[in-house]
Amino acid sequence: MSGESIVIVGAGHAGGCAAAALRSAGFAGRITLIGKEIHLPYERPPLSKGVLSGEADPTTLFLRAEDWYSEAQVDLQLDTHVVEIVPGRKVVVSEDGKTFSYDKLLLTTGARARKLTVGGDAGPDIIYLRGIDDTFLLRGRLTEERKIAIIGAGFIGLEIGATATKLGCAVEVFEASAGPMGRVMPKDIGDIVVRLHSARGVHFRFHAEITSIHRQGSGYLIELANGESVEADVVIAGIGAVPNDELAAEAGLAVSDGIIVDEFGRTSDPSIFAAGDVTRHYNPLLKRQIRLEAWQNAQNQANAVANVMAGRAVPFAEVPWLWTDQFDMNLQIAGHPMDWDRLIWRGDPDEGHAIAFQLVDGIPVGAISINNAREMRFARQLIAKAIPVDPRLLADKSCKLQELCR
Ligand SMILES: Cc1cc2nc3c(=O)[nH]c(=O)nc-3n(C[C@H](O)[C@H](O)[C@H](O)COP(=O)(O)OP(=O)(O)OC[C@H]3O[C@@H](n4cnc5c(N)ncnc54)[C@H](O)[C@@H]3O)c2cc1C
Repeated sequence: MSGESIVIVGAGHAGGCAAAALRSAGFAGRITLIGKEIHLPYERPPLSKGVLSGEADPTTLFLRAEDWYSEAQVDLQLDTHVVEIVPGRKVVVSEDGKTFSYDKLLLTTGARARKLTVGGDAGPDIIYLRGIDDTFLLRGRLTEERKIAIIGAGFIGLEIGATATKLGCAVEVFEASAGPMGRVMPKDIGDIVVRLHSARGVHFRFHAEITSIHRQGSGYLIELANGESVEADVVIAGIGAVPNDELAAEAGLAVSDGIIVDEFGRTSDPSIFAAGDVTRHYNPLLKRQIRLEAWQNAQNQANAVANVMAGRAVPFAEVPWLWTDQFDMNLQIAGHPMDWDRLIWRGDPDEGHAIAFQLVDGIPVGAISINNAREMRFARQLIAKAIPVDPRLLADKSCKLQELCR
């Protein structure tokens, strides 16, 4: 083993991937992977889908079996909360006073669920879904015929809504804005998602401003600014995530809603790197900084940054991509457009199988597929190429997307 020491803080998806990628890249020094959860590094997407519904075995979430870490000589320190980085001494300090020294430090501290601030006494009872333990807690509450209030019509809220409905619950979704899935999702797609959920019994309240949530008997009373009040047995909030960037900020690193890194994962300290949900990273394809909360980004950015730390400076440059599964619909979203001037449909969304391309000056900047993962591969290539494409050809299903990529 070489004398160099790499410490990774955050033993989640990105941290677990980075440890493995460091070994694959030939790094022979010491690797310490520190995580505050008690669980082995795991993937989160099934937490709101198969694991929540009981269809998937939670053990399938783990990136690797426990033996792998000892075999790969990765010193896994679970249940260990890092509370300080001391860049001058190149050490991190845990809550229980242990210190870990590094030559290079990788921060993969991820994000946490944003907390709802409303009046009333029910705040501590509101359920948020970020980790395995949250899923088990929620699973126990989703029993048949219970009234479930979900605050926030983002991906996680909608996935929980779909799962709870399948389990026989009555679901009501409260969303402050006019439609689901945020400001940058085309309205057409939002409408399709609302129709899908409504047809299965989910009830939506848009423009819903919640003023307070009170405990009432064994359940809750949700009060709205318009004077209405709604009863529920369980209240869940899915109102976004906040990057765990405080450690970095307190250590003097550049932070702005995420740790600022370049395409190599380098922070403003030459010995400290970061990857995953916690980063606001420069994307060379988009030519701007972005922060993503997505499985592909956690895995591939971590792999790329681990290679940089092991001495192979390959930039992380990918078209952002994520997916969501709601009932029998798989939505995939590629690109990161802030805006677009045309939306071109390829296929009929009402037939349940289509792609919508977002164009700016004829150049595809984003694509959203509905049950069409196969063509999404090529849609991502088209976005990466960033050249104008004839919209008629994009819409023409007899014209293969792979031909347009050439
Ligand atoms: C319910 C759910 C469903 C999702 N579904 C999808 C999906 O369908 N498609 C998709 O593309 N993406 C999905 N995602 C997003 C994806 O899972 C995340 O982007 C990914 O987990 C980010 O990985 P990460 O390693 O950056 O952060 P995390 O996986 O959150 O890991 C960070 C780890 O760091 C630990 N940590 C934080 N601070 C400290 C500290 N000071 N000391 C020690 N440890 C610390 C945390 O406890 C955590 O274990 C989903 C996320 C959730 C929560």
